[in-house]
Amino acid sequence: MTTMTERDVIVVGAGPGGATTAVALAQKGYDVLLLDRHDFPRDKTCGDAVPAGAIELLWRLGMREKIAKSVERGELYPLEGMLLVSPRGHELHAKFQHGKEGSDSYVAPRVYFDALIQEHAVASGAEFCQAQAKAPIVENGKIVGVRVQANGRTHDLRARLVIGADGVTSVITRSLRPKQEQHNDGHRAVALRAYIEDIEEIPKEVEFYLYKDILPGYAWIFPIGNNRANIGLGMRLDHFRKRKYSLENMLQDFLEMPAIKKRLLRGGQLRDVATWQLNFGSQKNLQHVFDGAILVGDAAGFINPLTGGGIHNALISAELATQVADDALRANDVSRSNMQVYEQLCHEQMWESMRNSYFMQRSFMRFPILVDFLVRRMKENSQLAQTFLTKL
Ligand SMILES: Cc1cc2nc3c(=O)[nH]c(=O)nc-3n(C[C@H](O)[C@H](O)[C@H](O)COP(=O)(O)OP(=O)(O)OC[C@H]3O[C@@H](n4cnc5c(N)ncnc54)[C@H](O)[C@@H]3O)c2cc1C
Repeated sequence: MTTMTERDVIVVGAGPGGATTAVALAQKGYDVLLLDRHDFPRDKTCGDAVPAGAIELLWRLGMREKIAKSVERGELYPLEGMLLVSPRGHELHAKFQHGKEGSDSYVAPRVYFDALIQEHAVASGAEFCQAQAKAPIVENGKIVGVRVQANGRTHDLRARLVIGADGVTSVITRSLRPKQEQHNDGHRAVALRAYIEDIEEIPKEVEFYLYKDILPGYAWIFPIGNNRANIGLGMRLDHFRKRKYSLENMLQDFLEMPAIKKRLLRGGQLRDVATWQLNFGSQKNLQHVFDGAILVGDAAGFINPLTGGGIHNALISAELATQVADDALRANDVSRSNMQVYEQLCHEQMWESMRNSYFMQRSFMRFPILVDFLVRRMKENSQLAQTFLTKL
């Protein structure tokens, strides 16, 4: 890592949002430094469900062959449909549509998926460095770089533009976004994820369980083949705090449900149990652009408030940030006023679905009777089913 020269762009965080931004900007010829506090491959606590639209966005950045090879190696597990189960056990099965360009949706364990994009960023010309960002460097109100810690030493790295893509606990967001705009508990969730090694899976089908003790939230079983699955549950944070019951206990209760228990081949062998937070994109009017910096993905808070899916939105925001960054760097003007169009573009691409999802989550996901009624009546093409299918 060269610390003296000013880079065109420093991207903080090499998850899907950051690595995709690094790919796209490096492909446009910019000098990009991609930082992450972890080396790759690394795990990220997630349900691992990646919709077809996200895969196709990566195809357009030249990743088609890399993804196909990963599928061949059995790392990404293709999906054909989903099952939604209501509190009283009513079931809705729905089929995934292929994406517009013919892709499948996948369960893509992040240890593989994220490394594919991070590798592609390096192959596209970005430099990767394992370093922990401590804070943005601000001079005269403008972000001019990032202070990082690497190999036990502190370095000040300078760049014309900083992309904050360091996820839900982003130090870039916390330093730059006004306090009153930080996410509140009604727009946040907490979730637990584990891998289970001995479950009779429904082949190629993701399962969502909506039941009294978890609403407004759900438990999931997302298969990865050979009797293994990503399993977990999540709940809106304000409700979770009131319950005073741990997510680990809630997962044990889920595994004890007769419909699940009978599918466990050796009693339910779990590994890599971990909890993490989610910030929903339903909180209005948040600032994503600053003089010299743009936020993407979870750092901005672009997770769907009904499904908890955030990978596709992280990639959409990466694509939009690239477009705005390219224009701003060419014009040599990375001021907020010049780049504010990014907030408008994100709004146009994501807000309607955030608003509808939030409405569904707030209105009927709280009431088991209503969920029962809807799941029993619902058809594959209903808005609820389609949201679960396309906004995983
Ligand atoms: C339990 C759970 C289940 C989920 N299930 C799904 C799902 O099935 N499908 C879906 O689409 N979404 C799901 N999500 C949401 C999804 O995980 C996120 O939306 C997605 O990871 C966002 O990508 P990102 O690149 O913005 O952030 P991240 O993937 O969080 O990447 C951020 C990166 O920044 C790095 N970083 C953090 N801090 C620093 C620092 N100070 N310095 C340097 N690097 C740093 C991290 O190491 C990480 O690599 C789930 C989330 C949770 C918590």
